[in-house]
Amino acid sequence: MHELGIVVKVLEQVDEAAAQYNAQKILKVTMEVGEVSTIVPDLFTDAFNWARKRTRFAQEAELEMIIIEGRTYCTGCGETYRTTEFGKTCPHCGSKDTYLLTGDQVIIKDIAAVFGDEEADTGEGHVSEETE
Ligand SMILES: [Zn+2]
Repeated sequence: MHELGIVVKVLEQVDEAAAQYNAQKILKVTMEVGEVSTIVPDLFTDAFNWARKRTRFAQEAELEMIIIEGRTYCTGCGETYRTTEFGKTCPHCGSKDTYLLTGDQVIIKDIAAVFGDEEADTGEGHVSEETE
């Protein structure tokens, strides 16, 4: 399952970002996943839910996936079309002189995190624990 390898890399980046920005924990990771990428969303989610437990900051992080439509550009006629429907052959002119414009990306779009000592947004300062 190659999704796991990608998930582990993603979570490493997320953990690094969390450390860099002094986050307490990661609430949510939003990914953009192209529909003609090699990712199977269900497998990716399973892998994420397994791998997050091994992270420092993202143990309870939610995963949101935004699926990006695959679109191909035809250099024959200059049109674009839906990749999943027509593959490499342009439906407008029949040319095979085409290339993928978008839809194969797997990127971290956004990371939502908690900062400070409290889960709630306390806004400022540190909440110190009273010990006597
Ligand atoms: Zn064409």
